[in-house]
Amino acid sequence: MRIDVLTIFPAYLDALDLSLVGKARRDGLLDLRVHDLRAWTTDRHRTVDDTPFGGGAGMVMRPDIWGKALDDVLATGSVPAPATETPAVGLDHPAPAAAVTLTPAPRQVLLVPTPSGERFTQAMAEDLARADQLVLACGRYEGIDARVAEHYGASSSVEVREVSLGDYVLNGGEVAALVIVEAVARLLPGVLGNPDSLVEESHGAAGLLEYPVYTKPPVWAGLEVPEVLTSGHHGKVARWRRDQALVGTARRRPDMVAALDPHQLDRADRVVLAGQGWFVPAGGRPARVTVRHGRAEDAAALAELAAFTFPLACPPHMAVQDIQAFISEHLTSAHFDAYLADAARYQVLTAESADGVLVGYTLTVLPLSADEPPYADDVAALVTARPAAELSKVYVLPDYQGSGVAGVLLEATAADLAVRVVDGVAPAALWLGTNKANRRAQRSYQRAGFTVVGTRRFRVGDSLEEDLVMVRDLRAGEAAEVGETTGPTSGTR
Ligand code: SAM
Repeated sequence: MRIDVLTIFPAYLDALDLSLVGKARRDGLLDLRVHDLRAWTTDRHRTVDDTPFGGGAGMVMRPDIWGKALDDVLATGSVPAPATETPAVGLDHPAPAAAVTLTPAPRQVLLVPTPSGERFTQAMAEDLARADQLVLACGRYEGIDARVAEHYGASSSVEVREVSLGDYVLNGGEVAALVIVEAVARLLPGVLGNPDSLVEESHGAAGLLEYPVYTKPPVWAGLEVPEVLTSGHHGKVARWRRDQALVGTARRRPDMVAALDPHQLDRADRVVLAGQGWFVPAGGRPARVTVRHGRAEDAAALAELAAFTFPLACPPHMAVQDIQAFISEHLTSAHFDAYLADAARYQVLTAESADGVLVGYTLTVLPLSADEPPYADDVAALVTARPAAELSKVYVLPDYQGSGVAGVLLEATAADLAVRVVDGVAPAALWLGTNKANRRAQRSYQRAGFTVVGTRRFRVGDSLEEDLVMVRDLRAGEAAEVGETTGPTSGTR
């Protein structure tokens, strides 16, 4: 690849003689030429700038000087590379007179660094690494006369890209040129000793920041290298690194998480993202969902969510009028008003998407005294720990089922119960009833630390339903794993 840098401070680019880029130049992998823009001036003072039309502070670089310089540099780079091997073509090596079989015209890209340009990214570096010639026009003062980019942009043979390093202002384009040359050059074949270094890097194909890296000594300043890295277990190391990349990206670059391709996220990835408040709805990209306590103003939205999700979770044999009757008796806006107003008896947690839509909720019924048994005798006989709270509802919109939202709601429910006190003690157990036929829900609850303790019967209209009763010991510490989406509980109050 050929790269030409035009600047009024050629010495600024001396650093490109060092390290891997310097070696790539010496090895002939990169034909990098640095030109002094003043070589194209004709006056005694070698002037490259003038006052701005329209007035204002500072000076502007003249288009005529830039035009001559760029025409020359682009002309020497525009000679198609012969199909057979010949010496490099450039300012110092004129094109061979006798043409051999010609390849298509070379791809020439004129890069104009400017804080008002498009953001320079790894994806752009990858694209630029496929060009034949990059020409970098380093501005100074207030920048280069706008007609330069306009003029070359109108040419069919040159691609013009105005590029910004970031949202700050530098004194000149030389630092940008150093950055762009280094980012592009390290992608050229043969430049990096170990091309595998490129595979898992930040901003690569995975769309994640890289995981943290460690070397010897294993303990430094009292800090130990994470144990998994010295385990020799490649699978666990790979999983740990992936988890770290996901967590680090979620914390520092939410914009990158929102852009992740859901097809590249496996179940374990989704659980990790859920722990950071990111969920992958069906058919969509990751979205942020916040779990919080329900507020009085949520009552209507909760009732709507409940009326929508409850029927979807009912067994197919249940009569529509029975389902509707249940909703009218337990899940109207007025009921949620009452639940939200009575914090001693009810805990309501909501999962809210970034655009303010409630996508899930839990309703938990708390005992008012430490020895209050669960409301039904058959359950009271099965759930013996006291105080015992009932997880009456866990519902999530269908799009968010399988996204991990329900698991996070469950963990938040347990965490909130752990800091509540009933007669001076925190609830010891959280129990729920779930339809016997709903295996998926049972597996989810198991993953969230619930175990089956028996069955109970309950009536919805004319149908007598049988539920499994499951209990989570709230004093047993963390559940083994945050469960994925759970199905419904069959709470009856
Ligand atoms: N007046 C310009 C503006 O406000 O957009 C800033 C000109 S700056 C002082 C001079 C030169 O520094 C620019 O022409 C450009 O070459 C370079 N430069 C400054 N900030 C840059 C950035 N964030 N990215 C790329 N180049 C930058």
